[in-house]
Amino acid sequence: MLKINAWKSWKEKEKEKVFSFAEEYRNFISENKTERKFVDASVELAKKAGFKNISTMKKIEAGDRIFKVNKNKQVIFGKIGRIPIEEETRFIVAHIDAPRLDLKPNPVYEDEGMVFLKTRYYGGIKKYHWLTIPLALYGTAVIKTGEKKIIEIGDKPDDPVFTITDLLPHLSKDQFKKTIEEGFPGESLNVVAATIPLDDDKDPVKKNLFSILKDRYGISEEDLISSEFEVVPAGQARDLGFDRSLILGYGQDDRVCSYTCFRALIDTKENERSMFCVLVDQEEIGSYGSTSAQSAFFQFFIEELLQKTGSKKSLRDVYENSRAISADVSSLFDPGFKEAYDPRNAARIHHGVCVERTTGGRGKAGSTEPTAEYIAWIRKIFDENKIHWQSSELGKIEQGGGGTVATFFARLNIPTIDCGTGVISMHAPFEVTSKADIYSTYLAYKTFYTAK
Ligand code: MN
Ligand code: MN
Repeated sequence: MLKINAWKSWKEKEKEKVFSFAEEYRNFISENKTERKFVDASVELAKKAGFKNISTMKKIEAGDRIFKVNKNKQVIFGKIGRIPIEEETRFIVAHIDAPRLDLKPNPVYEDEGMVFLKTRYYGGIKKYHWLTIPLALYGTAVIKTGEKKIIEIGDKPDDPVFTITDLLPHLSKDQFKKTIEEGFPGESLNVVAATIPLDDDKDPVKKNLFSILKDRYGISEEDLISSEFEVVPAGQARDLGFDRSLILGYGQDDRVCSYTCFRALIDTKENERSMFCVLVDQEEIGSYGSTSAQSAFFQFFIEELLQKTGSKKSLRDVYENSRAISADVSSLFDPGFKEAYDPRNAARIHHGVCVERTTGGRGKAGSTEPTAEYIAWIRKIFDENKIHWQSSELGKIEQGGGGTVATFFARLNIPTIDCGTGVISMHAPFEVTSKADIYSTYLAYKTFYTAK
């Protein structure tokens, strides 16, 4: 374990690589703020690199580059090696959803000449973070014919944005007395959407808004029931700090790991064994749905592979002889909140990718706990390849905790370890990461794909 700040060990040439990789990452997360957009953009990049949809392939053999998409929101990419997949395979799994506000099925209401959109928050957020910041809206509405209407407003330079208002401090005597939990109920996260009325008696602003939506996008109020609208922070991810050492951006949990493991797969030369990048949705809400890590999609994908590679072996063989990384973020020690961390087991900024043995909370509740043997192998391959990495835990035992998709791969009997980038202000509208840690994560994933 290189227990040093990565900037101290890298020469100029390496630093240039760190900055240029970070720029590509920054652009990617600025342009792809939803799981649908992440899937579309990554598939497009993969196709350029020669990846083919396995649904269109009758046979799969060594050297093939493949992918399979599930319902536009989950995707698996793979490079097929010479060794049969049932003998040795590597998986890196990351999630591409992020905390946000979703519009409710009946979101639109008018009050005092203003129209608002009611939201339901998705994932664990501090609700007050979402007040008074510019917000963008990404939506896919599907009308009854099955036709999709795509709406994206708030991230192009000339676009309008949206916001959730807050009470002025001058009148906040009562609000100041409330706890944070009491002060910001979920039902108060209502987005300002329009204020110009039609010449009509009842709900004139709402009527005007729907005439705009009908004209521009062809959607009615009822169409919103069959839609997915995500409210996310507006604006690009940015370099942070005079030295540009950090990135401030939305959705870095877990696009920092999903982007780096996707790029690691794309950039790694074919080797003996097969390697896969598995990108899942719905992690932030417990991984219950058909596009989540618990979906049978993964199993069906492996079955399809076995069939198309002509193998007579079973899923059991593949799982038993595979190794996995659950690529998800960890929490970086934040000097502003020292009391929440165990300093001896906290991840430090610029000290490389985090290897988290224990997730969960309190008495390891919900933790996946890989074996000492598996961790020893991870240590070996990272050290042999001079990866900046650190052993870390989220924070103090009784302060909380968190789980990852590691659970759903470990339960298939695949050795699985949590390994990802450290984040400050995790789950805030704009999260902070270190470019040194992002690059270390990318190198760690490449090492995992290729090391013996
Ligand atoms: Mn995560
Ligand atoms: Mn998360």
